[in-house]
Amino acid sequence: MTKYEHIQVQSILNRLNDKLDGFSSVYSLNPYRGCEHACQYCYVLSDKYIPYKKKEEFFYKIQLKANASFLLQEALSKIPIDCLIIVGTSCDPYQPAEKEYKNTRSILEVLYDFKNPVHIITKSDLILRDIDLLEKISSKTFLAVSFSISMNDALSSFFEPRATKPSKRFKALSILSDHNIRCGVFISPILPYIVDDKIVKNIISTASISGAKYISVDELRLRDTNKTRFLDFIKTIYPKLVNRYEVMFSKNSSPPEIFSKNIVDYAEKMAKELNLETSFSENFHMVKKQMELF
Ligand code: SF4
Repeated sequence: MTKYEHIQVQSILNRLNDKLDGFSSVYSLNPYRGCEHACQYCYVLSDKYIPYKKKEEFFYKIQLKANASFLLQEALSKIPIDCLIIVGTSCDPYQPAEKEYKNTRSILEVLYDFKNPVHIITKSDLILRDIDLLEKISSKTFLAVSFSISMNDALSSFFEPRATKPSKRFKALSILSDHNIRCGVFISPILPYIVDDKIVKNIISTASISGAKYISVDELRLRDTNKTRFLDFIKTIYPKLVNRYEVMFSKNSSPPEIFSKNIVDYAEKMAKELNLETSFSENFHMVKKQMELF
């Protein structure tokens, strides 16, 4: 059973990069610690990131950062207006807890006041609740909403049993897009020998039909705890793939370059044919110019 806790944190923004894609800096922001979606491949479950001593607690002990909005106001007053804030890098900001606690919404209200560019990543259609606020942010600054979709509904019921089904994520994307909110699809992670070209093709064409402006592809990463957990799971549903995965991930945390390159090349070629961009921030320079005019 999921437990919820309110905690106070020392800081809320985590600096990721400087001078990237026209942003003077890039920061990540996670309204919660822990994620109820419990995806089998969750990369956050690696020793490098996991904030819990008992690793599996990450999926059912959800900590709400109660002072997040306050800290964010302080932090944003000290950084330039063209610093990008990515919401949801180590948890889903619209996981079930958000329905009741609205911590993500409070954070977005602060971001609206400060006009910093925003990028939200989610696997949930709960984001539709905040259309009013997203429209307001989008009218003032750069906003991109990326839906993480890398499989069909059938596979998702195994690998992402507690997240919104991909077909409903596409529906949510379509609704946001109809409200002129820039949306796209992160096809990540590509599960070797499970997510094939046909599935990727379907995702890209559905993204295009649904109004996505961009797609982006990323590989599966497996290291320490998340590798053990994922391979244990693969044993139960794809026992014949276990050896191939063990070889593939024996020395590295990602598949051989040629494997990833083939999928990325395929996806980018298809994106070009459908007039989709291949980065969430490809149009930022345009928005930045408009921001400067204001
Ligand atoms: S939604 Fe993201 S953070 Fe949450 S369990 Fe899935 S992969 Fe991990």
